[in-house]
Amino acid sequence: MEKDCTNALNQISQKVETLTRFDIEVLKVVSCRKRNSLGEVNWSFRPIISIEKKSGKGKIPYTAIPKNDLEDLNSQTTKDYEKALEDLPQKLIKWDELNKTNDKELTPHDCFKGPITYGYHFQCRDCGGQGWNQCGNCRGKGSNTCDKCNTKGYIQCSKCINIWGNNTGKIKGETCPTCQGRKTITCNKCQGQGNLRCKRCNGSGTISCRSCGNTGFFHELMILTCVVNTVYKYIPNPKEKNKQIIQELNRRNLKDLQKISKVHRIESKIHNKSITRNYNSNCSITELIIKILDKKLIFIGYGENEIIFNYNNIVSILLEADLIVLERTLNLSKYKLWGTLIELSDNVGRVLESEINTMATKSSLIQDGIINKNYADRIKTALSKSLKKIIFCKLGTPLLTLCLLCLFIFAIDYFVDINLILGMWKYTLYILIPTFTWFLFEANVRKKVSNEINESSCKDIDVTYLFKRYNTMSNYRIIALIPIVMLLVIILLL
Ligand SMILES: [Zn+2]
Ligand SMILES: [Zn+2]
Ligand SMILES: [Zn+2]
Ligand SMILES: [Zn+2]
Repeated sequence: MEKDCTNALNQISQKVETLTRFDIEVLKVVSCRKRNSLGEVNWSFRPIISIEKKSGKGKIPYTAIPKNDLEDLNSQTTKDYEKALEDLPQKLIKWDELNKTNDKELTPHDCFKGPITYGYHFQCRDCGGQGWNQCGNCRGKGSNTCDKCNTKGYIQCSKCINIWGNNTGKIKGETCPTCQGRKTITCNKCQGQGNLRCKRCNGSGTISCRSCGNTGFFHELMILTCVVNTVYKYIPNPKEKNKQIIQELNRRNLKDLQKISKVHRIESKIHNKSITRNYNSNCSITELIIKILDKKLIFIGYGENEIIFNYNNIVSILLEADLIVLERTLNLSKYKLWGTLIELSDNVGRVLESEINTMATKSSLIQDGIINKNYADRIKTALSKSLKKIIFCKLGTPLLTLCLLCLFIFAIDYFVDINLILGMWKYTLYILIPTFTWFLFEANVRKKVSNEINESSCKDIDVTYLFKRYNTMSNYRIIALIPIVMLLVIILLL
């Protein structure tokens, strides 16, 4: 029975094994059933032939067939339109005959020879087909008489006028420097031309016709077009009750359906104005039920290769389960000195073992969109807290040893007079030796925890990276101060 689902099982294990610490043995096959899901495909094409009217400025485009007037245009278009409608059923039958063995789609070209454009054009009344009109401002000349010099191009010099109002060309007997004795000067408005360029037509003498957009013509077009409306529908057999299967088969087009299902063509239905192609579909369905960490999951494989499209978030379920176990153990294990939190370090190891969780600690998981931010945050918190607890617990023994060492130094000092040998340096000894020893212990514990978690099976994961990230150790450096403070108090009391 289980042999039948090898393909489906392999797909699931490939999905699970690459991302989690779990392998195929975790997946317990509850049942595997093979059956066929029947259905029908209706693929209908409805060609719509229509007339589109268009009017505009200018002559008709060169692709259009020219007509003499509106009546000619209308009658020709209607004639062709009716002919196209009349021919359509015959064309559909012919197309179906021709394409009996392939699955080509019906195109507008198969139903109608087109698009065809008819049109006619007529002169613009405003410009008489010229596209332009004479400029009214200059009467087509392009320029107007200069009003300052009145076409002469020169004006009387104003500097050498005598008291009687006549030009003399002289000022106080000398030649007038402005007109050099000529009595006149060049007109500065027209620069001696005598006339001015027309501002309205910019010297051209003509003005574009606004109503026909400079083209001189108007046109009317009639375009015969055809579009094909396509409806593809998968109709499941009423016996098929599984909504997931119906949805999966329904969302595919014919090509995609053929990849997973045996599709057999049956007779087409040809109506007057539309054609429907019909197919029978027979898809092999594999229903695989798997038990995974007390959860039952149903996977559906499609076709002979049992392709699974929906994995029911199996990876998330497995990782979530791991995280819940870690969080539970974390809550149960109390902070304590002396001893080892074996369960906790085991579970930290298991969580880290899943590749996806390693990514969670580096935040890249959130971007991948596989698991949400909330999950990644929970992982970070749980790992950080767990490491703190484990290290705190491991530090108990070194702490005790350290206290004994401090007492030992103090005892030597009490019975042997170190003052004679070291003088005031003995206080440095009190502080330096315990501090140095503490840091030695601390580094050792850090290494031990890291090895322990790594050895539990996740060999590729760099736990020291986590230590750095969460800065777990830094909080415990304060503990190093305990024996030092203790000693200082004793010294002061003495
Ligand atoms: Zn015009
Ligand atoms: Zn003008
Ligand atoms: Zn002038
Ligand atoms: Zn002058």
